[in-house]
Amino acid sequence: MAAMNEEPAATPRVDWHAEYAPAAPLASLPRPPLRLSCVVPAHNEEANLERFVRALAQAAGALTPDFEIVVVNDGSRDATHTIALRLAAELPLRYIALSRNFGKEAALSAGIAHARGNAIVLIDADFQHPLAMLPEMCALWRAGYDMVYGVIADRVGESGTKRLGTGLFYWLLNTGNRVKVPPNAGDFRWLDRRVADALDALPEHRRFMKGLYAWVGFKTAALPFVPPERAGGSSSFNLRRLGSLALLGLTSFTTFPLRVWSVIGGVVALFALGYGAWVTLDTLLNGADLEGWPTLAVGIMLFSGVQLMSIGILGEYIGRVYDEVKQRPSYFIARDEDHSPWRDTPP
Ligand code: UDP
Ligand code: MG
Repeated sequence: MAAMNEEPAATPRVDWHAEYAPAAPLASLPRPPLRLSCVVPAHNEEANLERFVRALAQAAGALTPDFEIVVVNDGSRDATHTIALRLAAELPLRYIALSRNFGKEAALSAGIAHARGNAIVLIDADFQHPLAMLPEMCALWRAGYDMVYGVIADRVGESGTKRLGTGLFYWLLNTGNRVKVPPNAGDFRWLDRRVADALDALPEHRRFMKGLYAWVGFKTAALPFVPPERAGGSSSFNLRRLGSLALLGLTSFTTFPLRVWSVIGGVVALFALGYGAWVTLDTLLNGADLEGWPTLAVGIMLFSGVQLMSIGILGEYIGRVYDEVKQRPSYFIARDEDHSPWRDTPP
């Protein structure tokens, strides 16, 4: 297959996140025969979908004859729908079309909810997640790991701003948080049935998957890889969408930005007290003139800014609460074309 040649082989596994990847070898669990569900979220992937799904079918078929592919069309506005329908007619494929674009997190959730295998692999449709890594993921699953994920080992192609933003995001997310979200771990994952069930059972509606994977726990191993360039088409994530995803992640997984204001408030109050005492003493003892309207003006402006910022951050959290209390489902399914070999098996 031409597509297979373009993918770099996975580099050897290292225990990047010791707490997630136990260093001691696990007792080998007897796994049942593999029934693999491959979940592919697709948004405007007409340039890649056909070639990718065929390559995926081949890679999955090399692991087990018993597999299904679940393509979730996340409200594409191009020919993705037609291509997926055509593929469903000829491959063991379940095609799920969402009623509009709900975002990758929702598309993955829909895929996980409808996958029926005893292992589930989540993989992008643009060849950025190397199919060549599937055998190693499978081997780790057989060795007893419940979740195996790809970690981006090198962000070579990315701008300095994006790297800085990513660094800041993970720092904020993980500071003072008991559940650590491993940096640079994406959605390229092999999940055991139990992990998929756990993810499916989480009731939140706006879902930040990278956080949820870490939150559910289980025995997890990391596989570093360098993502190749997108095969065709263009990324759906611009800086604005990345920013709003980062906000969703922060407001879903950490209260650090809320708590930090108590500390800032305390420090400012202490400073104000000290400064007040100093001015009083200076006036009483040295008879210094009371000048200082510029200090006053600057102080008022600075702390109005700080207060507005803290209210803004509070607002983000209230917005998240508002989103959740509405209890709207994460997605709606417009069409479910089920050509999976397990279509008569209850989920
Ligand atoms: N995707 C999706 N819904 C969206 C955006 C993206 O299902 O709203 C899919 C997309 O088709 C691809 C995967 O998610 O299979 C990753 O998206 P993309 O390649 O655009 O993101 P990047 O790799 O640049 O982070
Ligand atoms: Mg991509």
